[in-house]
Amino acid sequence: MTEVKTGKKIAIVRCERTQESCPGTSCLSSFQERKYTFKEYDENAMLVGFFSCGGCPGRRIFRLIRSIKEETGLDVVHVASCILKEEPFPKCLHKKDIIESMKKMGIEVILGSDDKWEIEKRIKKERGEITQFDDDEEILKGSSHW
Ligand code: SF4
Repeated sequence: MTEVKTGKKIAIVRCERTQESCPGTSCLSSFQERKYTFKEYDENAMLVGFFSCGGCPGRRIFRLIRSIKEETGLDVVHVASCILKEEPFPKCLHKKDIIESMKKMGIEVILGSDDKWEIEKRIKKERGEITQFDDDEEILKGSSHW
């Protein structure tokens, strides 16, 4: 049975390079409609941040996470599909460091923000590149990602 997460303070981090062409509609509507990686949150969940990494190599991550955490008690950050996927977005060579730096700050990190990451995972599973959908290490391992 899926656990319902109540009252979480959530932020979404996105790629600085792709935000010129992406208004973030898909991430925001996925949260509003509690779809994909947001489906376990109840109505008390709050989106308290939606920000870009600040440009390579994720230079604004630490500062912004610290600030949101201090102001809101941030619990969890969703890493947007534009950071995780390799097409049609520019490949991010820094995502592993970005993810690990947020975890070191005591933040729960969840991969994905909309249907694009779900589709990527399905393709990987069909190709036999992953065996399950929720093992982040397995999903991101391999030279094609780093
Ligand atoms: S560090 Fe990654 S997510 Fe940030 S701008 Fe560079 S490619 Fe995009």
